[in-house]
Amino acid sequence: MRLRNIPGADEAVLNSPYCVNEPQSYCGKWQVLFPTKGPLYIEIGMGKGRFIMDSAAAYPQINFVGIERYSSVLLRALQKMKELPLPNLKFICMDAAEIDTVFSIHEVSKIFLNFSDPWPKDRHAGRRLTSRRFLALYDRILSLDGCIEFKTDNQELFSFSLEELKETGWSIDLCTRDLHKDIVLNEGNIMTEYEEKFSSIGNPICKLTASRSF
Ligand code: SAM
Repeated sequence: MRLRNIPGADEAVLNSPYCVNEPQSYCGKWQVLFPTKGPLYIEIGMGKGRFIMDSAAAYPQINFVGIERYSSVLLRALQKMKELPLPNLKFICMDAAEIDTVFSIHEVSKIFLNFSDPWPKDRHAGRRLTSRRFLALYDRILSLDGCIEFKTDNQELFSFSLEELKETGWSIDLCTRDLHKDIVLNEGNIMTEYEEKFSSIGNPICKLTASRSF
């Protein structure tokens, strides 16, 4: 998702009280940004923020950080936050490739990856947010009992992600290729913008959760 050149998007992000503009300076200290201490959950590639905002509203005891690369996309979430501020939610505008400079070792309890860009060409596989390159970063910042939750409608990306996780020693704790038809796994599911869009045209939604195998 990329909304190009929205005038003022960079300034809006820079001046927003909901965005953390020097995130590296909070490495290891994210709890100081929230009124209450709690587990830290992050979504990488949050887009316009529907999922993370609904999650933060549903779980006020958890602190959330949404990460999005493009200010033009993040802008939409900032506009929604103005209408409904959530004290347990902050945003960062950055490329997740540097995420290990922003969160310290084991600082994060859960990582959500929702409808990540598929990067279909083989030569771009390393850009996929579920590639081993990114899994190594998640391994550093995720608490030892933490987990990754990944949803997509892209069957190839899902298969690739399962392979990468298995080959790099993660355990797959939950796996379905039709989340919405699974009454148990779908209970409490919080929809993302892309999930709504793709499930409405009949695409089954895949979901996995993965943790470290010790
Ligand atoms: N998660 C949302 C959803 O499910 O509706 C948006 C999905 S959209 C297809 C993927 C989003 O991830 C885009 O907004 C894109 O800019 C962002 N993204 C992709 N790679 C990223 C990266 N390396 N760092 C931060 N954001 C990234």
